[in-house]
Amino acid sequence: EGKGVLNNRISEYILTNLSQCGIKTHLVKRLNMREQLIRKAEIFPIEFIVRNIATGSLSKRLDISEGTVLEKPLLEYCYKKDELNDPLISKDHIFAFGWATENEIKEIDKTTLRINDLLMGMFRGIGIKLVDFKIEFGKAWNKETEQKEILLADEISPDTCRLWDIKTEKKLDKDRFRKDLGNIIQAYQEVARRLGIVPETTNVSEVNFKKPTSINIKKR
Ligand code: 5GP
Repeated sequence: EGKGVLNNRISEYILTNLSQCGIKTHLVKRLNMREQLIRKAEIFPIEFIVRNIATGSLSKRLDISEGTVLEKPLLEYCYKKDELNDPLISKDHIFAFGWATENEIKEIDKTTLRINDLLMGMFRGIGIKLVDFKIEFGKAWNKETEQKEILLADEISPDTCRLWDIKTEKKLDKDRFRKDLGNIIQAYQEVARRLGIVPETTNVSEVNFKKPTSINIKKR
């Protein structure tokens, strides 16, 4: 229904802004409505999750009340393995299985927390709380330095972040799909509109968007 088109634009906007702040990303350019040209990267089999507010699997796992503001951003690692539901792992798992080196994780942790700072500011400026998000990194060859470098190699969009309206706490992210809340496109469009990506006048009527019925897709 157009979610991919919106995500393509939102992710391009966010990665371009991050890149202007010195974050190395895989994005070369958006090619058209639905496609991007990206650098080929060897992906670390790890999902890096940052949480500012407790919800989702953290609240479930540790029985922490939804909406609890965390003392400091919490960085979690999950093993990228769909068959196992991307289980939570520790740094020692990463080193024991050689999924990344200590130096690589040190660099990625630093970049991830910097990305969190930048994104929190970006979203706060448009009345949105960045609750949590997931990102992935990869290694790619840099022709100039003739060395491999670590890049942010993922989309950043309402599919990969939890975004709550500051005033109403209305969910403007994929939880609308996960929790069958409906109006998913409208929520993504609202994020795009506030970021200034789609024109202010764009107004998508609620009636155009059906509530999801029985969807047989894995909800991650
Ligand atoms: P949770 O662990 O609470 O389910 O998710 C934490 C954050 O990471 C949420 O913002 C969620 O959107 C994101 N996330 C975690 N795993 C995945 C995944 O496999 N796919 C996507 N799209 N997002 C994920």
